[in-house]
Amino acid sequence: MSTIERELLGISERAYSYVRQCESELADVFARIDDIEAAGQARVLAAFQQEGIALRHFAPTTGYGYDDIGRDALDRVFAASLEAEDALVRPQITSGTHAIFTALSGLLEPGDTMLSLTGAPYDTLEKAIGISGNEYNSLARMGVKYAQVDLLDGSIDLEAAEKAVFPEVKLVYFQRSRGYSWRNALTPEEMLPAFELVRRKAPNAFIVVDNCYGGFTRMHEPTYYGADVIIGSLIKNLGGGIAPTGGYIAGTKRAIERIEMKLTVPGMGREVGSYAGSYAPFYQGLFMAPHITAQAVKSAVLFARVFEKAGMTSMPSSTDERSDIVQSLRFNSAEALISFCRSIQKAAPVDSFVQPEPWDMPGYTSQVIMAAGAFVQGSSIELSADAPIVEPYTAYVQGGLTFAHGRIGVMYALDDLLKAGEISI
Ligand SMILES: *Cc1c(COP(=O)(O)O)cnc(C)c1O
Repeated sequence: MSTIERELLGISERAYSYVRQCESELADVFARIDDIEAAGQARVLAAFQQEGIALRHFAPTTGYGYDDIGRDALDRVFAASLEAEDALVRPQITSGTHAIFTALSGLLEPGDTMLSLTGAPYDTLEKAIGISGNEYNSLARMGVKYAQVDLLDGSIDLEAAEKAVFPEVKLVYFQRSRGYSWRNALTPEEMLPAFELVRRKAPNAFIVVDNCYGGFTRMHEPTYYGADVIIGSLIKNLGGGIAPTGGYIAGTKRAIERIEMKLTVPGMGREVGSYAGSYAPFYQGLFMAPHITAQAVKSAVLFARVFEKAGMTSMPSSTDERSDIVQSLRFNSAEALISFCRSIQKAAPVDSFVQPEPWDMPGYTSQVIMAAGAFVQGSSIELSADAPIVEPYTAYVQGGLTFAHGRIGVMYALDDLLKAGEISI
């Protein structure tokens, strides 16, 4: 075993061998992740072949973007890769939140009801939906009603859903990943009984899944099990660490043809929209996404293994099945939480010298500390950690473009907590 990491990066012998030992126990889990990667890679490659992707698809366009073949073919390769009929993939979608809001406002009309079956949606959507605040153009101000059924012990409460879903409900919403709550990501298989319930009780409802952090972590996406729409950010899994910005919305034709009218202008939809940069990073990002996601999942598994063996609480555990790239870790004190995030920052290729501090972030209700030293600003498919400074002190760590890098993050974090006396092994 190489000691180069230790010497160059100043990692103690103790932390180094402990992490390596933990890794050696994970062969079965890693083999499972490899199988998922293989399926995803095959699906993406087949989509590229099917579309006959060539260099001409990467060419920039300007102005209105009429007949932009790079944009249109990108939509189709995403659709096929995500087991969907159609997709909208755009650099102009600024974030996952923007993609979700675009989809929701494209599907919902005044008087309609949106029902969440996974409890409160991700924090940044509260104002957008109008659950909190009274912002211009929130769904609430546009006359959309919102209701939710909370999760029951981390699972969809089918009994309560049975009562809550009514025939006229327009949109039923699911959040796959954990957000900032102490629960596991829902697998698409776990969503299936709820999808069936919705189809039975409200056949015309749109089933919409916030797929952020979930893409390519399972054999199939929620679209395979009948979701009308899945949505995510390109600076998470689906951009493969290469897309510089953007978001995707993939799903049924019936849903996408409505959403495209909100994406730009009713009557124009997807016909317009140019990109003066090259589309190559979006194609290459998708091509890399199954592998990069697998690297991130392996890093998450190693974080879980090391810290659960050291007596801390991790969710999921290192051997659990996963449906997102996020690893939740519980610390005993705010100091340990902050130390952990600072170690992740120290492991970053960019801004490694920066010391993150808790701050008030737009869209979040408590102070948050974020470790992100990424090539793409805020990218969380790159190794990153964030933690709201509230009890119980929970860090959400995700990403790692390479497992070798994720492993260094684990070693730094363990070493620093050992030095601070916050953990013992
Ligand atoms: C990241 C994330 C979002 C959207 O976040 P953006 O920062 O706007 O890209 C939405 N839902 C979940 C579950 C997420 O993890």
